[in-house]
Amino acid sequence: MTSIEVRELSKVYRRTRAVDGIDFSVRPGRVTGFLGPNGAGKSTTMRLILGLDRPSSGTATIGGRRFRDIDWPLRTVGALLDAAAAHSARTAHDHLLALAVGNRIPARRVTAVLEEVGLGAMARRRVRTYSLGMRQRLGIAAALLGDPPVVMLDEPSNGLDPEGIIWIRETLRRLAGEGRTVLVSSHLMGETAAFADQLIVLGRGRVLADTALQTFIGDH
Ligand code: ADP
Ligand code: ADP
Repeated sequence: MTSIEVRELSKVYRRTRAVDGIDFSVRPGRVTGFLGPNGAGKSTTMRLILGLDRPSSGTATIGGRRFRDIDWPLRTVGALLDAAAAHSARTAHDHLLALAVGNRIPARRVTAVLEEVGLGAMARRRVRTYSLGMRQRLGIAAALLGDPPVVMLDEPSNGLDPEGIIWIRETLRRLAGEGRTVLVSSHLMGETAAFADQLIVLGRGRVLADTALQTFIGDH
């Protein structure tokens, strides 16, 4: 089982303490909502966990390792960060195939995962012709490509229509039900509380609350 552990993590840009000495754990088998208004430090924290930025101090590990020490990262952690930024001239299929090859993931996973996110019919179209909602789905396909035990998604509902938002919730619940560690950021507390098991609330780079949600109905 693979947890994310964040310890005394800080990131200071020139003028901003984007992340200010935070501690939390994200555990398997749950959807953990990562909440806070714009500028709270959610994306910075996710980038630090993924080794895309260097912490000013503190540590972030996935399954006890720093991201850069993980051999085949996509097989350990799938992340959706800025889906809107995807504007490859490649087709969705070729875009994912390049990621698969680099991470020793079988090519047949590409077709399977594009079907899984509802892009099967659009697989041979160029990514730069995709709508924002399709880019979100493609980003989720990239995150799931390596069948990873840990999935991190930054605002995955952005650009999705209501049907897409229901789909993303169901997908996240399924992933947690399969025992994966799911961290999903949002600035919408109510929406996230409706499907998350745990909420971590960030404000001005600090953890304001870290709470397990009670289940009133059923037993997920
Ligand atoms: P959130 O994802 O919660 O909206 P961010 O992590 O994007 O928050 O931003 C946290 C703070 O850090 C904000 O004040 C933002 O302006 C600042 N920040 C983020 N990235 C950079 C950067 N590369 N350089 C300078 N400041 C940054
Ligand atoms: P570049 O444009 O630099 O070639 P890539 O898209 O190939 O970037 O990604 C570089 C590395 O980042 C990949 O080898 C992979 O480990 C990691 N990476 C890319 N996409 C994801 C993702 N969705 N989730 C986790 N890691 C990713």
